[in-house]
Amino acid sequence: YKQLTENLRACLGNDSLLQPLWDSLRHNYRDYLRSPLFPVVLTVSSYFFLCLPFLVCDIMGERWGWVQQFKIQPSRRPTASTLLHCAGVTLYNHVFLVLPASVAQWAWRPPVDLPDQAPSLLELIAGVIGNLLLFDFQYFIWHLLHHKIRWLYMTFHAIHHNYSSPFALATQCLGGWELVTVGFWTTLNPVILRCHLLTTWTFMVLHVYVSIEDHCGYDFPWSTSRLIPFGIYGGPSKHDVHHQKPNSNFAPHFSHWDKLFGTHADFSFSAAVK
Ligand SMILES: [Zn+2]
Ligand SMILES: [Zn+2]
Repeated sequence: YKQLTENLRACLGNDSLLQPLWDSLRHNYRDYLRSPLFPVVLTVSSYFFLCLPFLVCDIMGERWGWVQQFKIQPSRRPTASTLLHCAGVTLYNHVFLVLPASVAQWAWRPPVDLPDQAPSLLELIAGVIGNLLLFDFQYFIWHLLHHKIRWLYMTFHAIHHNYSSPFALATQCLGGWELVTVGFWTTLNPVILRCHLLTTWTFMVLHVYVSIEDHCGYDFPWSTSRLIPFGIYGGPSKHDVHHQKPNSNFAPHFSHWDKLFGTHADFSFSAAVK
């Protein structure tokens, strides 16, 4: 056991573990990685790529019985028109917000410098967790205010609550203001926490994944809330409850803020509704 922990510590703290990966990225894709457009391309493409498997599950529906046993609200499946509506909103946001913001970045921000040194694995993991925790706090406050102040809710957040049974494509079925805020924090937080670029990109992709998972409508055995013990992490079943019962579970990732503020609701609520 002692040997194991020592090995683990050596492995995590090892500065050179990620170095070969970082070197090969730097040498082969230097110009792409330095571009201020890279983080945008990375997050947008991972969004569509990671939505795809869940979208296929929704489209296959009953034909995939094994998958459907994990559906959180089995009686409520997104219809073709709902899916098309969300695809439309997402496309609209990307054409009128994401694209102009990317062009502005590309035009005004100089290419970034790629450091020679890779982060250690421990730095990378700590950075990703730090970013998730910081975002979780910011979005918790933002989300709470947008539910408590009626004007804010109606003007900005109501669109995201069109659906009380979420599905992957509903993740970015957001108003422009919400998308801009979320994008702003996701870009700013790694700078505040002085993260390495590799850590920043890892966080961005993971953040996209967990946001989709929150909305996917399925609670698979490998969902984050099942992989992370003690109910630390909310995951799909908790956020599903937020869409059914909007005065609970405001935090996007972890469950501590909702527990502290008394807004935490378990999935037993929706089981009672069925
Ligand atoms: Zn949601
Ligand atoms: Zn909400």
